[in-house]
Amino acid sequence: MAVTRTFSIIKPDATRRNITGKVTAMLEAAGLRVVASKRIHMTKEQAEGFYGVHRERPFFNDLVAFMTSGPVVVQVLDGEDAVALNRRVMGATNPANADAGTIRKELAESIEANTVHGSDSEENAAIEIAFFFKDSEIVG
Ligand code: GDP
Repeated sequence: MAVTRTFSIIKPDATRRNITGKVTAMLEAAGLRVVASKRIHMTKEQAEGFYGVHRERPFFNDLVAFMTSGPVVVQVLDGEDAVALNRRVMGATNPANADAGTIRKELAESIEANTVHGSDSEENAAIEIAFFFKDSEIVG
């Protein structure tokens, strides 16, 4: 399996609880490498753009409010089949359904405040990385 790339966000519930290091340690222990990282406070426009595919979902406004409620850490991750590997270590969207040992099972607060975002395909990973990072910011 080749080394590929994915995009991650450590969400506001994790920055608020000061557990971004704990989350990153779980990503690294799973075999992912942080090749770019920055702490930002998303604007409403950024959050609406990033989650544009969910615009028609009933929780869209709540999700945008949550993602702009505090800082986040956006990251680019490299690893063997990185998209699938990251989704495995994240666990199911709803922490109640997540497997033991996953980030969401161990750390998430709720289906909304679920600690991490991870791209769901390599195509979306490329789009999401370009949304937040210039090529020169991805340093390996
Ligand atoms: P993901 O790929 O596992 O993050 O899940 P989705 O793409 O389906 O949803 C995006 C994000 O929207 C999730 O990570 C949650 O933060 C939030 N979300 C998903 N489902 C719900 C829901 O039923 N209610 C609320 N309030 N938020 C949700």
